[in-house]
Amino acid sequence: MTKTHCPYCSLQCGMTLAPLSPSRRTGNQVEVQAWPEFPVNEGALCRKGWTATGLRGSRERLTTPLVRDRATGELRSAGWDEALDLVAGRLAALRAERGPDSVAVFGGGGLTNEKAYQLGKLARVALGTSQIDYNGRWCMSSAASAGNQAFGIDRGLPFPLADVEQTDVLVLVGSNLAETMPPAARHLDRLRERGGHVVVIDPRLTSTGERADTFLQPVPGTDLALALGLLHLLVAMGAVDEEYVGARTTGFDDVRRSVAAWWPERVERVTGVPVTDLHATARLLAGADKVMVLTARGAEQHSQGTDTVLAWINVALALGMPGKAFSGYGCLTGQGNGQGGREHGQKADQLPGYRMIDDPAAREHVARVWGVAPETLPGKGRSAYELLESLGVEDGPRALLVFGSNIVVSAPNATHVTDRLESLDLLVVADMVMSETAAMADVVLPVTQWAEETGTMTNLEGRVILRERAVAPPEGVRSDLEVMAGLASRLGSPVPFSTEPEEIFAELGRASAGGKADYAGIDYDRIRREHGVFWPCPTPEHAGTPRMFGDTFATPDGRARCLPVEHRGAAEVPCDDYPVHLTTGRVLAQYQSGAQTRRIKELPDEGAFVELHPMLADRVGAHDGDLVVVTTRRGELKAPARVVTTIRPDTVFVPFHWVGANRLTNDALDPSSRMPEFKVCAAAVRT
Ligand code: SF4
Repeated sequence: MTKTHCPYCSLQCGMTLAPLSPSRRTGNQVEVQAWPEFPVNEGALCRKGWTATGLRGSRERLTTPLVRDRATGELRSAGWDEALDLVAGRLAALRAERGPDSVAVFGGGGLTNEKAYQLGKLARVALGTSQIDYNGRWCMSSAASAGNQAFGIDRGLPFPLADVEQTDVLVLVGSNLAETMPPAARHLDRLRERGGHVVVIDPRLTSTGERADTFLQPVPGTDLALALGLLHLLVAMGAVDEEYVGARTTGFDDVRRSVAAWWPERVERVTGVPVTDLHATARLLAGADKVMVLTARGAEQHSQGTDTVLAWINVALALGMPGKAFSGYGCLTGQGNGQGGREHGQKADQLPGYRMIDDPAAREHVARVWGVAPETLPGKGRSAYELLESLGVEDGPRALLVFGSNIVVSAPNATHVTDRLESLDLLVVADMVMSETAAMADVVLPVTQWAEETGTMTNLEGRVILRERAVAPPEGVRSDLEVMAGLASRLGSPVPFSTEPEEIFAELGRASAGGKADYAGIDYDRIRREHGVFWPCPTPEHAGTPRMFGDTFATPDGRARCLPVEHRGAAEVPCDDYPVHLTTGRVLAQYQSGAQTRRIKELPDEGAFVELHPMLADRVGAHDGDLVVVTTRRGELKAPARVVTTIRPDTVFVPFHWVGANRLTNDALDPSSRMPEFKVCAAAVRT
């Protein structure tokens, strides 16, 4: 029996992997069982978790390196030495000819902390390139940017998730947690059983919205205006906690002025939320002792995502909530290691420990841990989408190494990104299955999956947990860490790369020591004993930090920043040619690009669909089940219609787990986080 965690979302539910009797083995050697003592999910799992071992038995599992034959253009089997020699040789030649930034690295928010750390080191030490970023840039980066600006630190939830149960009013902005992380919905249910009130804000009435006491259905891309309008009312009602604002924040007078013109009628015109609902919600917030605001991708994946989160943080600060028990602001991170994946060096602008790469002291510290000179470390690279856009053009990278990401499905404006991938001299993908991105690669490297390897993840609460190896990988498969070490040595890295997760975690701890995300006091045995450890945890004696901001924020003066923001609206708004809003999101049975979950036979693989309101369906002459075509300025998608009354009549929804949705989405970027505007663009629908 091995206690471990689910391979998918940021809840990182605890589970037990138990050996199957030989008579029941059909490719799997283990089955999932509950781990009731793990506090985050208390034994509950969603259907993705229960079926997670399914991929082990999949015939689609890659077990040998593949190299594209130049003569036939087809992928053929190769030995590990041949594949790694080929990759290292071509990378070295490119570097010699065009410089280190001709090689780029793209990581993933599902990689363990050890892999994310080692990937950043591979890029900066072995390859010497500044060109590294990862798909977490497209996940919660706007909340990260806002958290850093307002609180001086970015930890998704600065409190344990179970605190939700003890608040009085929970405001969920753009989160469908009942479908994306179902075991978390128990906290909503318990909150309501206690008499608490749940407010859900979403253009679609999802199963999370069905649990709400108040449901607000704004126009996509107007969550910021809604926050400004609510704060306007709170100021007008005298509901601002002036003592808290005076003692624990700076800048609130500027914020107060900035919301003066957001009277309810104007907010209704922009957001579509009725004035009466605005007043009722403001009264609810004003009258509550404890208020918790949680944002997710619906609020964050916008070209004004950072400002949207800042606006909601301002609401929480005005009410005096951050740092108060069972109150405050938090972000519900999405990907499995969405939190840890952004802390240890695979971001374009960061070194391990959430240190900024342009900070001389940070460079000095990390270089010392790595055993290299600080001046040899490259500077800041391009953000994820900008990096992909630059592939193969002028001074852009000519080679890309991809670990833990399926860009072809998950990138915005995906047709354009696929063109850029095609223009490369060398595309290398490490994956466990032939994802859409791997299918384009010149070299595919088959790697282990979660049950076959050990490593830490940091869940949405900032709790560092340990996934333990339960079974041996199939013959022919190597871990990402072995792949990185194999490349580093062939590239003549000045320092050795370990392949042992525990050893790498100890090094990560030293590299993070003194940084914002300080893991120095955490080790594997301690994680096992304590059901995870919350960072920051600077020493073995430190208890870890489940709750933050009680006395001080992580800013130089210890006060939170109230930052005035203005509603700009979406980069694209409906027009004659594209008269409706398109929004995208997830469904219960699939995870991210679907590369894993679409291959698990127990999970329904229904394919993309187009959700639209009966009024819109009537207008375009579509019936439930008819094939409809959604068009945007970037592409089109044909898929069956689902006619539902739960979506706004001016909006269509497409899930993003299949090829197609992101051919439609907009690549307009948030100026601060560089988050693309996945969540809204202008579209047309026809039969
Ligand atoms: Fe838990 Fe998320 Fe896994 Fe479902 S997908 S079992 S909610 S970690």
